[in-house]
Amino acid sequence: MRISNIKVIEDDVNQVSCSGDQQSGMHPQIFLKVSDEDGSVECYYCGKVFIRKSKFNNK
Ligand SMILES: [Zn+2]
Repeated sequence: MRISNIKVIEDDVNQVSCSGDQQSGMHPQIFLKVSDEDGSVECYYCGKVFIRKSKFNNK
């Protein structure tokens, strides 16, 4: 997991959208479902990891 590409989200968020960023490059906007098991999801286009606040702080 690349630490530099993590976006922390709120705990009640179940779905995120990603369209890349200036750093890793833009891509078509997609929607990703956050896994309830680990509280995170990885964008398969740009590798950005979305992680819920509580999970992130537990690490
Ligand atoms: Zn992405």
